[in-house]
Amino acid sequence: MEGIKKAYPAYLNILDGKKKPEFQIAKQKGILDKKIKQVEKILGSCELCERKCKVNRLAGELGVCKVGITPKIFGAYTHMGEEAELIPSATLFFSGCTMKCDYCQNAPDSMSPEHGNEWFEEDIAKWIEQKFKEGCRNVNFVGGDPTPYLFNMLKALKLCGADTPVVWNSNAYYSEKTAEILKDIVDVYLLDFRYFKEGCARRLSDAKNYPKAAMRNLLGASKDAELLIRLLLMPGHIGCDAKPILKWIKENLGGWARVNLLAQYHPSWHAKKHVELSRRLTHIEYQEVVDYAKDIGLKNLC
Ligand code: SF4
Repeated sequence: MEGIKKAYPAYLNILDGKKKPEFQIAKQKGILDKKIKQVEKILGSCELCERKCKVNRLAGELGVCKVGITPKIFGAYTHMGEEAELIPSATLFFSGCTMKCDYCQNAPDSMSPEHGNEWFEEDIAKWIEQKFKEGCRNVNFVGGDPTPYLFNMLKALKLCGADTPVVWNSNAYYSEKTAEILKDIVDVYLLDFRYFKEGCARRLSDAKNYPKAAMRNLLGASKDAELLIRLLLMPGHIGCDAKPILKWIKENLGGWARVNLLAQYHPSWHAKKHVELSRRLTHIEYQEVVDYAKDIGLKNLC
């Protein structure tokens, strides 16, 4: 409980009704409208994520993520499988992703907008309001990845009357421009930190520049709002990715950074293309990482 209190003072205040969520404050100040206009402009030469495809999505051009301008959602429900402090969580799974992870556990639905149902921003706003009435503690925008849908998310929040905290649940592969838009909108950043080595990011997720983008976005998120970091532990990537990531977190975000070490990896999608990813993580490997995290002074593990 001490870890939760240290990680989320503002989020807990929103849940207690002592504070408004950031997007409602932004709406009152006229900031949300300005941000919607800014994102619309970016869509004309899209660089919402680190790929910076520069396609004109407003004119129907598609970039690597293949996301158009209408929300496509492959799942919308009260999620009870997130971290304890977040559940029940009203979770929207957008179809389409900015990364191409060979081991994705939600593929193909997460990978392609064609697998999603079309929603409109009005539908999303009403759905969030209904889930808030039912007792959900937040709205959780995830995918795939929510980044290509930033415009739709902001438009839905403009229509939304619920005082619900906003959770931005992302792979952390978004651009500086997206990070700027998210400021004063998001209450809790729920960010993956997947790779420390550029070569691993390129080989497994076709994600050039991932480590640099993730570090930049984690630092920015920690200054803007509250942050929960997810680290998916993958076999064969303990020494090159997991441990250096934990060391970086300790050195840059401090010992109380909230970190969830995920042991759930199992070979999915095209994982078997990579020898080291063709098996589950062992308990010994998991324990080795937990011990390492504690040894270097991380005190707020989920
Ligand atoms: S969100 Fe990223 S992948 Fe999709 S079109 Fe924009 S820059 Fe390209």
